[in-house]
Amino acid sequence: MTRVGIGYDVHQLVAGRKLILGGVEIPHPKGLDGHSDADALMHAICDAVLGALGEGDIGHFFPNTDPRWKGAPSKVFLQEAARLVAARGGRFVNVDASLIAQQPKLAPHIAAMKTHIAIALNANPDQIGIKATTNEHLGFIGREEGIAAMAVASVELPE
Ligand code: MG
Repeated sequence: MTRVGIGYDVHQLVAGRKLILGGVEIPHPKGLDGHSDADALMHAICDAVLGALGEGDIGHFFPNTDPRWKGAPSKVFLQEAARLVAARGGRFVNVDASLIAQQPKLAPHIAAMKTHIAIALNANPDQIGIKATTNEHLGFIGREEGIAAMAVASVELPE
């Protein structure tokens, strides 16, 4: 049985934080604020995989009130999602994601992001799709106040 899930995440851009997306540290004057490393791309992908399983969302498994996840690298969330797929006897098929950021330019980092995400999901980079777009200067993303990510994931589960 083929299952799909959807995920969305947004974090605020603030001074004094590293900008980490898809496990890649990207040079930029601001970074994403959050309890963990605030990797919005990995969070959206995690929710998409959990959604495909019909599981609770990332906040259910990794509450931001739990000190264990303070500053945590978000790859641990993807590793747990992949573990849940395997525990159900499932097989990860693919993920496709879009990053929405006015600045900085993310395209040069996409190949590295795919590698980091594939490793965390125990998958191959060719199973990971990532695109980057701007928000045409509109709204909070256009004003560079935050960065958003959306993702879909597909998994095969036994009948
Ligand atoms: Mg998040």
